[in-house]
Amino acid sequence: MPSRSVLILGAGIAGPALAYWLARHGYRPTVVEQARELRSGGSAVVVKEPATAVAERMGILGQLREVATSAGSLALLDASGRQVLHVPTTSERSVEVTRADLSAVLHQAAANEAEFVFDDTVTDIRQDTAGVDVTFRRRPPRRFDLLIGADGVHSTVRRLVFGPAERFTTDLGMYGATVPLEPSALDDPAAMVMLTAPGRMLTVHPSRGSPLAMFTFRGRRVPGYDRRDIALHKRMVTEACAGVGWRAAELVQAYQNHPAPFFDPLSNIRMDMWSRGRVALLGDAASAVALFGDGSSMAMAGAHTLAQALASHPGDHARALQVYEARHRRQVDPRHRRVGLIAALLVPRTRQVLGARNAVARAVHQVMRAWATAPRAGARV
Ligand SMILES: Cc1cc2nc3c(=O)[nH]c(=O)nc-3n(C[C@H](O)[C@H](O)[C@H](O)COP(=O)(O)OP(=O)(O)OC[C@H]3O[C@@H](n4cnc5c(N)ncnc54)[C@H](O)[C@@H]3O)c2cc1C
Repeated sequence: MPSRSVLILGAGIAGPALAYWLARHGYRPTVVEQARELRSGGSAVVVKEPATAVAERMGILGQLREVATSAGSLALLDASGRQVLHVPTTSERSVEVTRADLSAVLHQAAANEAEFVFDDTVTDIRQDTAGVDVTFRRRPPRRFDLLIGADGVHSTVRRLVFGPAERFTTDLGMYGATVPLEPSALDDPAAMVMLTAPGRMLTVHPSRGSPLAMFTFRGRRVPGYDRRDIALHKRMVTEACAGVGWRAAELVQAYQNHPAPFFDPLSNIRMDMWSRGRVALLGDAASAVALFGDGSSMAMAGAHTLAQALASHPGDHARALQVYEARHRRQVDPRHRRVGLIAALLVPRTRQVLGARNAVARAVHQVMRAWATAPRAGARV
């Protein structure tokens, strides 16, 4: 008998995308989300290949374009607030949306195909050769054919089935924080403005008229760090921005004023195996890659690959999960290998490295502009 009932934990990006594709292939997915409703926090994310093709095949690319953020360009500023370059960021095969909008569009696509349960989570998972028994915090226990943990970087499924988070987490020594701003805080509704000072990057994103401030900064892990300690997060953001000019004081004030701004240490999740028996991990739970800005694209692509692998191997979940992992690792592994370089370029540690990066960025930009506007040999003038 092919495996048919699938519990998916987490209704972020990977969860609803997987539910949609599994239902299309004749499975009965149930998505359980611990939040009371779809979570709304977070900044803009870019849906790009291979996720654009997945969105196209789901028939949601048009909807995503309708809710696209207005940011068509990036203005990069040096530590003193002077513009280093201003480049277009849009392309035909990518669309930037807020994370909340992407989650809502994916949920809408899957809502009629799958059972969605909010305000609950798993407390115990036991599997045997024929199925997985799951105990929930609120609802009665149930048995499923498969369980997929799409419950993000702090995955409970990973902890219960694979082991404690520390075993799989690579700390990047950086933090990310975001807070909504008043619409009046926006200078340019079409540009994302990014200032880099040594060890810190402050971004103002227009986000379709609901601007956001983003703080990305280097910092040692605080002993006994508590990810629910909002006062600590506020203190860390304030300290990280000390000495930064430009609009730092105003952005930090907005962070201080918000009751529950977003804050998370930036870390990568690296695992040797993404499945154990009838339980598998997907999206950030399996392979979070910070700083590339395409965790959502990876989650959508992984969901599609997993559903396809299961559909192509009916009755053989073990083989299907191997195929999913082998295929999707080709997307994820190169990103894991490059994360150190991306961190060094995005948030350089020292004034010297930052100056060199800005000089190179300026030079590359000028060469590309000259290249784009130069008459080609043989071209008619
Ligand atoms: C609130 C929020 C804000 C974010 N902001 C950004 C951002 O600004 N920029 C960026 O690049 N990435 C951001 N991310 C991460 C980004 O969404 C992921 O990299 C990417 O979408 C991968 O998707 P995912 O579905 O694997 O994980 P996520 O999008 O993190 O979704 C995981 C879901 O699982 C739910 N969940 C967690 N634990 C449990 C549990 N025990 N039981 C049931 N449900 C559970 C969570 O509430 C969440 O809805 C954010 C994530 C969240 C949750």
